[in-house]
Amino acid sequence: MDRIEIPGDATYSPIALTDLLVAAPLASRVLLGATLPGRLIQIAALGYYAGSSLKDWWARAGMRRVEFLQEFGADIFDLEPQPEEERVAEVRLLGEALNDGYDPTRVVREELAVEVNRHLTTYIATVTGQEVVTSSEVRNFSLAMLVFPFAYGTCDVVSGDVAIFKDTGIFEAHIITHEFCHRKGYWKELHAQALAFLALRNSGEPLLVQAARAERLHRQLRTLAGDDLDRFNEMVDAADLRPELKEEFHKLRPVPGAYESAVGVVMRKLYDERMKITGQNGLSDYDEGFTNFLYTFSSSKQARQPAHHADI
Ligand SMILES: [Zn+2]
Repeated sequence: MDRIEIPGDATYSPIALTDLLVAAPLASRVLLGATLPGRLIQIAALGYYAGSSLKDWWARAGMRRVEFLQEFGADIFDLEPQPEEERVAEVRLLGEALNDGYDPTRVVREELAVEVNRHLTTYIATVTGQEVVTSSEVRNFSLAMLVFPFAYGTCDVVSGDVAIFKDTGIFEAHIITHEFCHRKGYWKELHAQALAFLALRNSGEPLLVQAARAERLHRQLRTLAGDDLDRFNEMVDAADLRPELKEEFHKLRPVPGAYESAVGVVMRKLYDERMKITGQNGLSDYDEGFTNFLYTFSSSKQARQPAHHADI
């Protein structure tokens, strides 16, 4: 098997280098009353950050990328909209599958990250014939949490640094896998959503299959409910989920605090715009686009990959 390795040196540094870049001068001023030590740390961090990113960029040059349209018969701008009644039917099927297969096991984040990375590497390799080996390091903190309070996690596109912000229970495996797709060089959100789902859904591991189904149901409900938080919660209640699952879904969309709603509204809008100018449809790629992708793939006549990969 053809194999390339993206070193991701920045992901192994004890503190996110981007945090050091932002915070070191400020911290040294507050703590020492001097700016010079902070500036020196900042320069060192910047050097390491740039060096690591350059090595990764160089390694990625040998990467064979997944051709989404060819492999799945669907891509960001080649999607068939899933009709609403089909979405409603899918919500029921996903709910039943989640109830029947419910597994309460929790795996600690570090181990889960290694596990999902392995499955993601394998899945992509079955499509492209090439293993793209990447770091499984995940941070639990990043200053980006303050800027993107609505996000569950982030991946710095330059260094591949991944931070997970919240404990999201059964969804965590999917969130980590999504960020790891970015680390492997798939920057677009729909691609990350799709590859993460397909890798976990076809992993053969009940806990990971559960995460994939939970994310798909979450995104179906978001598409159906739109921005209406009450509607989302009502639909969760109506989905007939067992109590443990219902609680996990309600926790996803808590009523935002003043800070989250103020920052969230502004940043969401900026982020949506940023997505549009980088060859994506906007925030809808996370839910509507993602579910349309699975719908299009499952009925495609041209896809090279078997349609059962997109099963419930
Ligand atoms: Zn993402």
